[in-house]
Amino acid sequence: MKITDTQLHRYARQVVMHEIDEDGQQALLSSKVAVLGAGGLGSVVIANLAAAGVGELIICDNDIIDLSNLNRQIIHREKDVGKPKTESAKRFVQDINPDVSVKIIQETMEKEILNDILSDCNLLVDCADQFSTRFDAAKAAFQNGIPHIFGGAVRFDGQMASLMAGVEGYNNSPCFACLFPKDFDAAQAANCAQAGILSPITGLIGNLQSLETIKWVTRAGEMALNKLILFDGFSSNFKSIETTKLDNCVICSKSDNLK
Ligand SMILES: [Zn+2]
Repeated sequence: MKITDTQLHRYARQVVMHEIDEDGQQALLSSKVAVLGAGGLGSVVIANLAAAGVGELIICDNDIIDLSNLNRQIIHREKDVGKPKTESAKRFVQDINPDVSVKIIQETMEKEILNDILSDCNLLVDCADQFSTRFDAAKAAFQNGIPHIFGGAVRFDGQMASLMAGVEGYNNSPCFACLFPKDFDAAQAANCAQAGILSPITGLIGNLQSLETIKWVTRAGEMALNKLILFDGFSSNFKSIETTKLDNCVICSKSDNLK
């Protein structure tokens, strides 16, 4: 599939960069990316990837839009309150870029569904808000040998990691369970409904996740490997923590988790 003149015009500001070029744009247009969650992080990821020309977006969310989502979930409109987030997300993508095909999955993300979805995706962008969903997503990404781009945000704080366990050539990279073991007390973790969240925090982390996605697909730059990037928005400080693969990880140390 050759890039058309209209596409060259649309994507001119990214094609002009030699690290991306027409080959990178072609890779984006041919790529298939799963976005888990169409909330605060997912809104930003979906908008960025649609605008950049990712060829196919699989948008997974089983939630409906609530008025209290609209302070940060910027792809949804007030008149869509009460409607599924996936349908609103699809409308948003189609409005900004007809190059992108969208498949929506309005279901609770069971393990089998995730495995099925990821079987032919280049990458998973994890914008979920449930620990158990992230855990299952990590396992499915590992089994399918694709990157798991994790993002999280609550209050003034955000975090992001590119988790490459299971990806060919990245044997010593950790998975989500290496960073957050299953006995991690998810019930004690703050959630947005109780603790609050600001749009610039989800925006910033969603943008970092989008950047990692574009870099992976185009092979431009270096992935944020083996580190958890933390942003403290209250004091405007970034830091990163080195991460390592666990020897006894319940996901990535078990070969029977591989296909
Ligand atoms: Zn692991």
